[in-house]
Parts: sequence; C-alpha cells; structure tokens
Amino acid sequence: MSSIGKLEKSLITFNSDLMKEYIKKGKRKEHISQTSIGGMYNSNVHRDGSGQPPNPIANQLESALLRMGPINTRSPICHNIIGCCCEVRVSNHLILKQPIPHKVKVKDIIFTKARRVRTNQYMKRCKNCISVFGREK
Ligand SMILES: [Zn+2]
Repeated sequence: MSSIGKLEKSLITFNSDLMKEYIKKGKRKEHISQTSIGGMYNSNVHRDGSGQPPNPIANQLESALLRMGPINTRSPICHNIIGCCCEVRVSNHLILKQPIPHKVKVKDIIFTKARRVRTNQYMKRCKNCISVFGREK
C-alpha cells in the first residue's frame, strides 16, 4: 500500500480514537473536532482534526489565509471559519517541523481525504481550503 494509502487507513483509527477520548472525557460538543485529515510532507506525516486556528502559525500559511480575510472570521467565499479547518492545522504542523526557515510551499503538502470524525464520511474540501491548498487530487 502507498504511504498515502496507509495514512488514509490510519485516519479511520485516528477518528475512532478521538471518539473514544470524547466519550471518556465527556467533552462538550464545541470542543469536538468535526472533521479530520492526514497530511504528508517529505517523510513526515501528521493527522489532526478541525478546531482553533494554530498558534504559532507558519508565515506562508498565514499569508495565504489572510487573502480571504482575518483569521478566525467567516470568509465571504465559504461557510467555514478561516484557519479552523483540519487542513490548516495539519499543514501548519508539517511546515513548522521542517528546519528553519520552514521553506515549504503549502501546495506541496499531500493530503488524505477529509473525513467526518463521527462517521468517517468523506468531506469535500471547502472553498477556503481550495484557495489555500488547491483542488483535491
Ligand atoms: Zn477547509
């Protein structure tokens, strides 16, 4: 299986672990990631869910997000809040893991499909994320 195929598969386990954690901790609904994704850059992989915008945030990611409006506000092109998508959180982690000055083009990051954490249903990339990362391959 290709590395992205393995990462796709591991996202299903990641989601079921998240659900177990939510049940165990009795987390309130607003603290639950709705969607999750896996990302790859070079040999690094990372999985994460949607949530708060990352802080610190990589410069190139921040400037791509700011083209749509202030971070943590609703953009005019999309129903999602700028900076809160799982794609943003995963790519930020992968960029900041690279040696300084973190020379990564955001469009070079490879993603799995995004999935709803509760059901593993495939979620189409949102318009904010298409603007930052390009169309899904
Ligand atoms: Zn998005």
